Amino acid sequence: NQDSNKVNNSSRILVFVRLRPMAKKEKEAGSRCCIRIVNRKDIYLTEFASSGNDYLRLKRLRGRHFTFDAAFPDSTTQQEVYSKTTAELVEGVLQGRNGSVFCYGATGAGKTYTMLGTVENPGVMVLAIKDLFTMMRQRSYDGNHAVHLSYLEVYNETVRDLLSPGRPLVLREDKQVMSLLQQGNQNRTTEPTRVNETSSRSHAILQVVAEYQVRDSAMSVVNQVGKLSLIDLAGSERALATDQRTLRSIEGANINRSLLALSSCINALVEGKKHIPYRNSKLTQLLKDSLGGTCNTVMIANVSPSNLSFGETQNTLHWADRAK
Ligand code: ADP
Ligand code: MG
Repeated sequence: NQDSNKVNNSSRILVFVRLRPMAKKEKEAGSRCCIRIVNRKDIYLTEFASSGNDYLRLKRLRGRHFTFDAAFPDSTTQQEVYSKTTAELVEGVLQGRNGSVFCYGATGAGKTYTMLGTVENPGVMVLAIKDLFTMMRQRSYDGNHAVHLSYLEVYNETVRDLLSPGRPLVLREDKQVMSLLQQGNQNRTTEPTRVNETSSRSHAILQVVAEYQVRDSAMSVVNQVGKLSLIDLAGSERALATDQRTLRSIEGANINRSLLALSSCINALVEGKKHIPYRNSKLTQLLKDSLGGTCNTVMIANVSPSNLSFGETQNTLHWADRAK
């Protein structure tokens, strides 16, 4: 019957939410926390409505409860986020199964922190590469293992190499990965109106191909190749036009075609559709072999705790909810 058919065809996407700590600026602006995480997977959003004389009234509205595969409170470490979201995909990659991890959310919500992180607190990209090397070292038949790494940007539907060699870099060890990626991030297109800020409209895509040799069950040597794509998506705030009027008013320059196309692909995948519209954007073309089918897919939705970002947080959670 059709229902079981749908279950068989649809790809399961694991969806996580990460709440970042309240920023100093947000505190100074008198922010209140509008998110509550319960049972490590339930999220309750609270809207604070002011009614007269600056009196803040707490108003809980219907439809503001979400459940995800896990919700990470602001105390969650980079290592925990990596272990719970991506470690399994790394294991899959070592067995030849491609996978992809996305960070989605508004500008300032914590996407780049989650993906790249800092020297003291490296993020998912760095921890994944480190793990790949550790495991390949243990399993490699001849000690001859490598990762091929490309770090690309999609900006206004143009693909650019952030490391500028025009072909994947071959790494034999994980040293220097952080500084390489930091350099790459500095090459991301900056918004003309926002000096010194990396663009909220550029997607950064790290593709890591792990290659090593193992002995199979018949003791013959086989080459193992798997690809992991790690994507720091453009800010979601301007890309989602939910009604026709907004859509028309921002038509052209401000529509992020790649983000919209990704949404369409993910919706088609979770609905078990046969046709997945990969060809509609540069981002989805790049991810064609890493999204859907037998690939593992993980979405991390990043949100701020501040009530000043309530609208964006709500949009992000609705979007993430549809990806389940
Ligand atoms: P985005 O890439 O989504 O625009 P960033 O990752 O740049 O957002 O985060 C915005 C700011 O918040 C940065 O200064 C970043 O260091 C900080 N930040 C984000 N997430 C965390 C976190 N989990 N813990 C500590 N600081 C964070
Ligand atoms: Mg960023």
